[in-house]
Amino acid sequence: MIDTMFVALLVALAIGWWLGRYGVPRFSLPWIRPRSQQYLKGFTYLINEQSDAAVDSFLAQLDVNPKTLEMHIAIGTMLRRKGELDRAIRVHQNLLDSRALNAIEMSLAQLELARDFYSAGILDRVEGILCDMINRGARYKEEALHLLLDVYRDLQQWQEALDTANHLRKVSPSTAAVKGLSEAMGHYCCQLAEDALENNKTVEAEKHIANALSYDPCCARATILAASISIASEGDEAAKKTLYKIVEQDVSLFSEAVKVLSSLPLDETSMRVVKQAHQRYPSQSAFLYLYQATDALQGEEAAQRLSLDEVSTRPSLTALDTYLARQPVDKTNAEVRGVVRHTLQSILSRRDRYVCRNCGFRGSQMHWLCPKCKRWGEIRQRYGL
Ligand SMILES: [Zn+2]
Repeated sequence: MIDTMFVALLVALAIGWWLGRYGVPRFSLPWIRPRSQQYLKGFTYLINEQSDAAVDSFLAQLDVNPKTLEMHIAIGTMLRRKGELDRAIRVHQNLLDSRALNAIEMSLAQLELARDFYSAGILDRVEGILCDMINRGARYKEEALHLLLDVYRDLQQWQEALDTANHLRKVSPSTAAVKGLSEAMGHYCCQLAEDALENNKTVEAEKHIANALSYDPCCARATILAASISIASEGDEAAKKTLYKIVEQDVSLFSEAVKVLSSLPLDETSMRVVKQAHQRYPSQSAFLYLYQATDALQGEEAAQRLSLDEVSTRPSLTALDTYLARQPVDKTNAEVRGVVRHTLQSILSRRDRYVCRNCGFRGSQMHWLCPKCKRWGEIRQRYGL
């Protein structure tokens, strides 16, 4: 892409130089002033691969006006992508300082400047620029709202993120964008609920959870939070029934519900629900829960049979290690079992248990927001070999 930009620059320089050198009476490009010495200088920089100097030389020749706006924006974007943020900021600030652009063109320059500051991590400047654009009802208001959402997400200002998302829902005509937004809004509410719970504000947390489910009825995270609260207020059975809902909401996240379920008394109903969920979307948490529940309620022999069946139907190192751990040993196989288990545990300890379905990020713990691609609700527990 950057190479393409340089080719474009080269072509533009060539045209300008040619017009400056020879002139073409039948047409002209009035926004490129024919200063042949400067264009030759730009060529020299390009030929010597001094791309920074070539861009500076070219910009020096390029007036700011509606016809050159796209070229300025393209150069600024290219600089931002190259990580040369101070130069990108100068390009876009130069546009804003000009009096040659109309209100819509100024808004585009503002948006690009906000993107520069966002890339530089100067979030208060981004917020200031975007709020100004949004309050003025500027042409690029929708884009500004999207970027402002990213700012509040990075700042972990969840109420502001929720307000911005609500504003965006009114502005954005795209159904697909609104669907993704609803899921994000569910997570903003869950973040607010977790903050409230940290401050022992249970009633407030419950309101946020209800809001989360109103934005996204399939928000498994909200249901897990609701179950955690109901353990104290309504008892174990009510909490279990709440957790069972996740099988229908999003069975691929039932592994996270199992973590809460593990703290509640075992019973046959829980086992049956976890077994059904595990068959639809296997997870290490569900298998370990089933193994322990089977051991406690039906005995060791049944639990070992469960492990063996698991290894046969869904090959899993965790299931194999669990099975080997309780296999009877004698003098001849004790050493072999020790070596095999040591190897299995070594592999398991080095393996990342979670993976992002969107970008492939892997980690050892659950993140509702992917640290790499910044998508909500894409990380799942890995299972199998
Ligand atoms: Zn990701």
